[in-house]
Amino acid sequence: MSDATAKKEERRKFQAIRGTRDLLPPETALWNRVEQTANEVFATFGYGEIRLPIFESTELFARAVGGETDIVSKEMYTFPNPMRFAEFYTKLLHSVKTGEGANEMGTLADLIPESEMISLRPEATASVCRAYIEHNMQQLPQPVKLYYMGPMFRSERPQKGRYRQFYQIGAEILGGTDAPAIDAEVIEMLMTFFDKVGLQGATLYINSIGHNGPDCRRAYIGALYNALLKIKDQLGPDSQRRIDTNPLRVLDSKLESEQPIIATLPHIADHLCDECKTHYAEVKRQLQVRGVLYQENWRLVRGLDYYMRTTFEITAPGLGSQNAVCGGGRYDGLVELLGGPPTKGIGFAIGEDRLILSLQESRKGQAQQGRDIYIAWMGEKAYATAIRAAKDLRKAGFSVELPPVEQKFGKALGQADKLGAKYALILGDNEVSEGLWTLKTLSDGTQQKFTESDLLEFLRQQEKVSS
Ligand code: ATP
Ligand code: MG
Repeated sequence: MSDATAKKEERRKFQAIRGTRDLLPPETALWNRVEQTANEVFATFGYGEIRLPIFESTELFARAVGGETDIVSKEMYTFPNPMRFAEFYTKLLHSVKTGEGANEMGTLADLIPESEMISLRPEATASVCRAYIEHNMQQLPQPVKLYYMGPMFRSERPQKGRYRQFYQIGAEILGGTDAPAIDAEVIEMLMTFFDKVGLQGATLYINSIGHNGPDCRRAYIGALYNALLKIKDQLGPDSQRRIDTNPLRVLDSKLESEQPIIATLPHIADHLCDECKTHYAEVKRQLQVRGVLYQENWRLVRGLDYYMRTTFEITAPGLGSQNAVCGGGRYDGLVELLGGPPTKGIGFAIGEDRLILSLQESRKGQAQQGRDIYIAWMGEKAYATAIRAAKDLRKAGFSVELPPVEQKFGKALGQADKLGAKYALILGDNEVSEGLWTLKTLSDGTQQKFTESDLLEFLRQQEKVSS
């Protein structure tokens, strides 16, 4: 490397990797508020938090989410277990030298057993089910109600509301019955959460996709497949491909030109078996009983293979075409598919990034900016008092900025303004010797004097008035 290139390298500015981003204050205050609201609302419905690993065996996702889904077939961040990498590499070298063991491609990936591949989690339901089985949660009182929050990873084209590292808040109910009241209550909880967090204009869409039986969804898929074959040449390449891989997903198409054709396809509601039909009718009735407004959408099929019966999605305004803030549904066979006992299951995942965007868009969720109190102090004695004042005010819950070096009052007040503080507490020699502190309200410039204890009382009262 030449000196010049080395210098350039040294000065290289690092940037977050495409599709990832930093969340910064003051916006992070809003993230915290949203997460805190989820903690509170979900707790009132009896849910406990589960914290899961960020990466899991690739096979877990392949099995649970389904190999034919976009998520598994093209969106997962997958890599060989680094602990075994040296071993695989040696194998590769050997096969390159001898021509043994390698298939036509002869790539490293071909030499690594599936079971040694690891993926960053693209969603969390599979992990929750794995944990349910691993920790024998079927022995706990059923159902087990769990919620989680945290980052998920999908290698998609980044755009507004679509990132490669994004965040979900989700919940799952596992075990017990599949009574329609369970479905309705999960949805009720979700809508309560959206309401508490201040989301406006959320719309709930529901559908039933039946169960995977010959008298139910499979009959429908057959009918759908036949109908699709007849109109195949009017569809784009993506939908054409899906006719064979996953015909239900054609209904998911957002392509403008396909909409009138898709509208003519058969509806699943006409093919549900009696049990699924009754279940769906009862879910709708239970939602009405709970005062939850919904719209039916026969095209709602969800992207993941494991869903059955109730599926739902919630959209919010201000998000352009990425307007789904939550997806969910019932998945009774999933735990069994992952090697556990037959277990009922239902859950949802909220896209937290999109929720925050929508809140910001409606200005409802504007994060509170600035400090409550900026302490302008001058003089050694005043500084000692200022430190004590800061400690007491913070203990009472106020956010306080205490400048680390002395500055003239004029400069301090300017700084307080810039930081968006509500008040400046002025502490100079006079204030300290009189025992009367000056509080300046920065919005109107008025000043009042208080004793130490009166000041705290006054600030508490003001806070009550404004909240
Ligand atoms: P979409 O159709 O928008 O790709 P999806 O069906 O892949 O969504 P789910 O797997 O159901 O989404 O995930 C639940 C929620 O997570 C979505 O409704 C959305 O709010 C959010 N979400 C999914 N993928 C992303 C992403 N790449 N970036 C940000 N949020 C996402
Ligand atoms: Mg997607």
